[in-house]
Amino acid sequence: MKINRDVRAQEEKMKELELYVHIPFCVKKCNYCDFLSAPASERTYDAYVSRLLAEIGAAGLAYKTDGVTSVFIGGGTPSVLSAAQMRQLLRRLKDSFPVLPDAEITVECNPGTLDAEKLQAYYEAGVNRLSIGLQSADEKELRMLGRIHTFEQFVQNYELARKTGFKNINVDIISAIPGQKINDYRQTLLKVTALKPEHISAYALIIEEGTPFYEQMRWNLLQLPSEEVDRQMYQMTKDLLRQSGYERYEISNYARPGFECRHNTGYWLRKNYLGIGLGAASCIENVRFANIADLSGYLKTDAADLPHVYAQREKLNERAQMEEFMFLGLRLMRGVSAEDFQKQFSLTMESVYGEVIQKQLNQKLIKQTKTGYCLTDYGIDISNYVMAEYLFH
Ligand code: SF4
Repeated sequence: MKINRDVRAQEEKMKELELYVHIPFCVKKCNYCDFLSAPASERTYDAYVSRLLAEIGAAGLAYKTDGVTSVFIGGGTPSVLSAAQMRQLLRRLKDSFPVLPDAEITVECNPGTLDAEKLQAYYEAGVNRLSIGLQSADEKELRMLGRIHTFEQFVQNYELARKTGFKNINVDIISAIPGQKINDYRQTLLKVTALKPEHISAYALIIEEGTPFYEQMRWNLLQLPSEEVDRQMYQMTKDLLRQSGYERYEISNYARPGFECRHNTGYWLRKNYLGIGLGAASCIENVRFANIADLSGYLKTDAADLPHVYAQREKLNERAQMEEFMFLGLRLMRGVSAEDFQKQFSLTMESVYGEVIQKQLNQKLIKQTKTGYCLTDYGIDISNYVMAEYLFH
């Protein structure tokens, strides 16, 4: 593995920073998952948390900021860690970085790994947002996906979280699950909206290489919904969530007014973010880098020796920054701002992308807004194609 050792500590203080902390453990691997996560022993959890604590401390010295606006502890399944471990992590984050008093602090959790003690510990440590992976309200589908929990367990955890005091909860759901019928998916949407979470992330299943589902698909053993059914589910998500009071603010994300995920929105707006932990990616002042993704190698690296050891590092040139500005910004329903583009690049959006913009306006893939451009419904349907046109070849 090629390792770059030339990452310098940030010399200039950043105005704002978002933090991501990766917990690469799960009780069991789901059949569709290609995330950097795996089951591990309690001893490995301990070793990992010690390494993380050291890295957080060192990163706090290396990356100076006026304020951390959001913290996202993601995975994997961060809720496999004990209440004490999570308390330690959150304490170290706050001791090492100037986390703003109104920062959004999210912990990702999965039913089957949560309990009252953990939820109380998160709450007391300042966590103000939970993101719970449900994926489906149908027991058969949960088993098919390889999830470790039932819908009933999810509901119990959700209610416990409310009782603990959490007022901002996201629920993740998936459509186009093998064997799923339109009405099955409708039931998931109805059961989830009945609980009134503040935020719902609704993604269509993608079969990723290297997963059990991929192997089954190769052998024709997966009964995937047809394209037509997939489209109907997509349409149903939009309609049913809108009727239930959710605003779609990103291609796959819906929120009650005021509950858009600040952390992810920052990512789509290309704010500085620092990733801590195994394989965690960062982008600071247009330099992208990522931690190594091999657990035993990661545990051997010396976190106190920051700038730490990164597996990849890439300085984005101006063209790459413009591309990202467009294809990340267009994911947001409010679209891209022409003024922000000009501020960042000292060029008008039209002078760089005039031809593409005009063509896509004619094709009704994008439309003009008060501040710039956003995707039309048709544009969202074929967003990969639309975004690809902003890449310089
Ligand atoms: S719980 Fe999430 S991260 Fe863990 S294996 Fe399942 S999908 Fe992947």
